[in-house]
Amino acid sequence: MLRVGAHVSIADGYPDAVEHEGELGGNCGQIFVGSPRGWAVSDVDDAEAEAFREAAADRDVRPWIVHGTYLINLATPKDDLAAKSLDCLQAELDAAAALDIPYYVFHPGAHTGAGEETGIENVGNRLSDLEVPDGVTVLLENTAGKGTTVGRRLAHLDEMVAVSDHSYDDIGVCLDTCHLFAAGYDFTDDASMADLIDEIRDTVGIEHIHYLHLNDSKHPLGSEKDEHEHIGEGEIGDEGFRRFVTHDALCEKPMVLETPVDEKGYAWNIDRVRDLRTEE
Ligand SMILES: [Zn+2]
Ligand SMILES: [Zn+2]
Repeated sequence: MLRVGAHVSIADGYPDAVEHEGELGGNCGQIFVGSPRGWAVSDVDDAEAEAFREAAADRDVRPWIVHGTYLINLATPKDDLAAKSLDCLQAELDAAAALDIPYYVFHPGAHTGAGEETGIENVGNRLSDLEVPDGVTVLLENTAGKGTTVGRRLAHLDEMVAVSDHSYDDIGVCLDTCHLFAAGYDFTDDASMADLIDEIRDTVGIEHIHYLHLNDSKHPLGSEKDEHEHIGEGEIGDEGFRRFVTHDALCEKPMVLETPVDEKGYAWNIDRVRDLRTEE
């Protein structure tokens, strides 16, 4: 069954986020549990968590995923920033658990000159300090490779898990299509798509990819630029997305959109994904 939704706001409270998702035509969704560009994590009280769970069950909008704040940086050589990042990440994870949200995704961070290998090891070592609550899986998001960000290769994400004390029981991967493409992974023809699937199998494993971020890319293959475009209207295009969302290895994964918020909006993009699943 196709599960596709969009990132929605919690500005009106958690239960209303479910309503907003339903209005867009989504049947799964993503939220922040605080400010995306701040350290504050909002408290989740029991009544609100219960109302969120009921709304999600009533509307059959699931599974949900929490996206971590963009400030988190586990790759950094700075211990104070790493400590602040871990505190924030733990608080966001606990908020996901309070809401019964099974997935939490974050960007591994940037090494800011310490070197890519050191950055990858930093992420792995710091992941070991996390208490992963029962019922929640922490997902590493692949990156576009912009600047000194780490996580542009699938093997690098696999290495972060290997370095940490956690296993793939607690940690998994969220694949972002724009980031894959910007990092140089092509999937716009059959041969390149097959190569991508082989590389997933050889590294993190298909079964450890728990969620997909569907975004087209404003910039060409390998550009290392992270700018999202509407589905089919960027450099990946309809053919690339059709291959991605209909592939046997990926079609059962829940998918959320983080496409530009303009006049087209998320509803248009959700419809587009549904069409790509059924059009020949
Ligand atoms: Zn992300
Ligand atoms: Zn992005």
